[in-house]
Amino acid sequence: MQPTVHEALAFGRAELSDSLSPDVDVQILLCHVLDCTPTRLHVSPEHELEAQQWQLFNQLVERRKQGEPVAHLTGSRGFWSLDLLVDNSTLIPRPDTELLVSLALSKIKPNMTVVDLGTGTGAIALSLAAEKADIDVIATDFSFAALQLAQKNANRHALEQVRFINMSWLVGFKSASFDLVVSNPPYIEMRDPHLNQGDVRFEPLSALVSGPDGLEDIRQIVVQAAKCLKKDGWLLVEHGYQQSAAVQQLFTDAGFEHISAHQDFGGQDRAVMGQLTL
Ligand code: GLN
Repeated sequence: MQPTVHEALAFGRAELSDSLSPDVDVQILLCHVLDCTPTRLHVSPEHELEAQQWQLFNQLVERRKQGEPVAHLTGSRGFWSLDLLVDNSTLIPRPDTELLVSLALSKIKPNMTVVDLGTGTGAIALSLAAEKADIDVIATDFSFAALQLAQKNANRHALEQVRFINMSWLVGFKSASFDLVVSNPPYIEMRDPHLNQGDVRFEPLSALVSGPDGLEDIRQIVVQAAKCLKKDGWLLVEHGYQQSAAVQQLFTDAGFEHISAHQDFGGQDRAVMGQLTL
């Protein structure tokens, strides 16, 4: 006899008791193995796993125990309204970044041209395109592997209207090209001890770290956006929880107005938005 759903969950929870979220992790892994929804786990606790399923579940629990992110084990992560393919070429989409999607949507009007810089999985660009059929969405990344993944995500959700470009920030674009520039760039300080903990250990450093103060990329983005935005266009960036004042200052120095700071779901400063009115 093979273990039941109930027994598999209990086993997984015990194995992962040191993890931050054993209950959620185990449920996601078991749903992945059984190809089912969490509800099915609850309504069929006595359902027996097949031998192969039990073996695969054991392997995934063991890899999770070694610290591998759940999204790498299942190969996907939910973001906004989309289930996105994830691999180790990019950042795993975070719920905090959904803040950028809702802020961007509050500024987007029909026929606007929007660019998502450092798109990674395509999370922001694809979410915006899924919400608004009447805008032009461009997404850039300097990592070709990330762009390939983002393109797969676009195909998966029939969002082929999003154009992907292999480029670093806005360097190749002409002035006054965009109505809205949005980015979740790297912003962690080079020596931040969090880099040795949790999921970030399995993500590319190039997607996380930005020089000694974490602001090197945001500095470039703000200056380049001031050139590439159209008059009255908006710039919107995600940043670290202690960087709001510094980022607002960068916006001011580059000539942005109507600058506002925004908090993530945990109440931490997480995004700054500003308009180029000249
Ligand atoms: N918010 C992420 C973290 O702290 C970092 C993401 C980023 O650098 N853009 O884990």
